[in-house]
Amino acid sequence: MKKIVFATANIHKLREVREILGDGFEVVSLKDIDFHEDIPETGDTLEENASIKSHHILERYNIDCFADDTGLEVDALGGAPGVYSARYAGEHVTYDDNVNKLLSELEGVKDRTAHFRTVISLLLDGEEYFFDGSVEGHIIDHKLGSGGFGYDPVFVPNGFNKTFAEMAPETKNAISHRGRAIKKFADFLKSNFPG
Ligand code: IMP
Repeated sequence: MKKIVFATANIHKLREVREILGDGFEVVSLKDIDFHEDIPETGDTLEENASIKSHHILERYNIDCFADDTGLEVDALGGAPGVYSARYAGEHVTYDDNVNKLLSELEGVKDRTAHFRTVISLLLDGEEYFFDGSVEGHIIDHKLGSGGFGYDPVFVPNGFNKTFAEMAPETKNAISHRGRAIKKFADFLKSNFPG
């Protein structure tokens, strides 16, 4: 089984990625390799941040690895919070703080279209590969549902009348930004490391 490190400390993401990649790949987290530091996300784009994270782990451990970076881009806010999605309400804040700030920024705003975008940087045998995925939707004006994480309770993907937080994980994964990026990544891995 091909072993690959996912440069994340986020257990929600790890669970999603393991579900999507399925058997055939052993996805190991930063905790599993005893890495407990915060990797500074100093880039101005999702690509840069994903790449910073994967290179940090490659340089430290010299192992194949991948990292993702995700942003929620809200049209009426000029693409904010975007690359700053994790710290929209400030440093060391909760998911709830960020969602509350988003709802207050959008109070009275009619155009509530938004999308999530994920970029994955994969470092494999010394080469870097990028994969991306996005999902269009809109932001509702109150939180609904208890599943998922982050901005899920206020994001309704196009074609559905439920937030990501109200959906079964498999339903979210099938259409989500990360699900779509991981699918491309998985197809690439499977064609390079067949059965
Ligand atoms: P990260 O930098 O990739 O960890 O993601 C930045 C922020 O985007 C996270 O702190 C979450 O608030 C949010 N986020 C990432 N992925 C998702 C998702 O699948 N649903 C909702 N929010 C997400």
